[in-house]
Amino acid sequence: MTTSTRSHKVQKVLERMGKKLNRQMFGSLVACVHCGMCTEACHYVLANPDDPTYAPAYKADRIRKFFRRHYDGLNLGRFFPWWVKARSLYTDEELEELKDIVFGKCTNCRRCSVNCPMGVDYATFNRMARGLLVSVGIMPEGVAHVSKDQWEIGNQMGVLKEDYLETLEWMSEELQDELGDPNAAIPIDKKNVEIMYTINPREVKYDPRSIADAAKIFYAAQESWMMPSEGWDMTNFGLFSGDDDLGGAVARRVYEKAVELGVKKIVMSECGHGYRSTRCEGPNWAKTDVAVEMESSVLTMLRYVKEGRIKVDKTRNTESYTFHDSCNNARSCGLFEEPRELLNLVVSDFREMYPNRAENFCCTGGGGAMSMSEYTPERLKSGKIKAEQLKATGADTVVTSCHNCVDGLTDLIKHYELGIKVTQLVTLVANALVIEKKEPASKE
Ligand code: SF4
Ligand code: SF4
Repeated sequence: MTTSTRSHKVQKVLERMGKKLNRQMFGSLVACVHCGMCTEACHYVLANPDDPTYAPAYKADRIRKFFRRHYDGLNLGRFFPWWVKARSLYTDEELEELKDIVFGKCTNCRRCSVNCPMGVDYATFNRMARGLLVSVGIMPEGVAHVSKDQWEIGNQMGVLKEDYLETLEWMSEELQDELGDPNAAIPIDKKNVEIMYTINPREVKYDPRSIADAAKIFYAAQESWMMPSEGWDMTNFGLFSGDDDLGGAVARRVYEKAVELGVKKIVMSECGHGYRSTRCEGPNWAKTDVAVEMESSVLTMLRYVKEGRIKVDKTRNTESYTFHDSCNNARSCGLFEEPRELLNLVVSDFREMYPNRAENFCCTGGGGAMSMSEYTPERLKSGKIKAEQLKATGADTVVTSCHNCVDGLTDLIKHYELGIKVTQLVTLVANALVIEKKEPASKE
């Protein structure tokens, strides 16, 4: 088959691949020695032991074969393709098959990456392959839908500005009633404060109480803070879709709002991919330096307790709790100890889950998997490993610092009938808060 028989989309994918290759990607594409040490690291493999097509190295080779054919530095793939197992791509059907591998058989959790002695980061070039397909319109329908909402409406759940502001007003009223203080409102677009608090749109749509919980904590800490009327969505579907342009545009909205309002710090609510995107990857995608400090709310809350800015009573959280490490927070951003430290300050019965930290298994909802309904059966089957991990803790409730993991865990807990509740640190901290009521001034 000649170049001229290649489909237009394939031609575009191959050209774009050349532009996306960087040193890290190149290293991962050439370094695999097929030792198989990553195989057992993958939850898809463990749940499908008889199917070798789930092995990370096998999946990686589906991408490697056309990289070798066109871009390996020694040109071996071009002159001796049979030797290095290089093969080009030709048809749209082949792109569709690749789509089912890169979106449907991997959550980009990076567990195989940290278990590779050669430093192969499969998840990174799996993401690149997703981006190549997205650039020619080949992607799961859910990915197209969510990306469109984030491009056009400014947040990945299509929440309209008036609905967002109404929710903040509603939560302000609830808080004022609860605390009996008309000053306990959520400030909006207040300039030159310390903290701009950004959230996951899931909180507006399905879990507004988490916004009120955070506001209660800021109130108790007497923080100078606000929420922006725009640029408030710190999640970023570009991380999942592999679309760096979307990633850059979304991150830029948050950074620009923070600069415009003159805040000192952007604090991100508990969301693994939002934290990784905004704090770590966003500046590269947006090709910008960010002059504003950025922090996960886990660190903010922990600091408040340690500095004595808030008082907590751990006896108020009466159940047994375990902790699920979000892949993005933990494996990719190193947030291992801080959430555990905070959890131990607000609950009495904490039970570790094994394996944990960098070796924790994905909730199975990572990499945007919750939006790809066509792969739900495979996702739930791969959740068997996480379900066994959860069950072995014997805990009543699993705590996680990620909204995506809340959804992934909730789904598999229902599927495997585990009867475990799912919550976040913000809820437990707010519940444990000891706020001394101010006595009204006496009239003498
Ligand atoms: S552990 Fe690394 S080198 Fe070994 S098969 Fe997996 S990716 Fe290749
Ligand atoms: S990144 Fe995670 S889901 Fe993907 S192959 Fe590696 S271990 Fe499996």
